[in-house]
Amino acid sequence: MADFRYVPCPACKGEFMVGEEFFRLTEAYCHCPYCAHEFPVGVAAAAQQAASAAQRQM
Ligand SMILES: [Zn+2]
Repeated sequence: MADFRYVPCPACKGEFMVGEEFFRLTEAYCHCPYCAHEFPVGVAAAAQQAASAAQRQM
């Protein structure tokens, strides 16, 4: 079963669904459907986790 997660685009902040396999490959690039920006999902996922961790510490 394919698992999907939401990733925020670092360029336009738009969130879109990406297959979980992209999170395991930090060199895997995906295209933002809103602005066509290309970025590695692993980096975006790490930034998202850091942001949510910071919110929990508030
Ligand atoms: Zn974008």
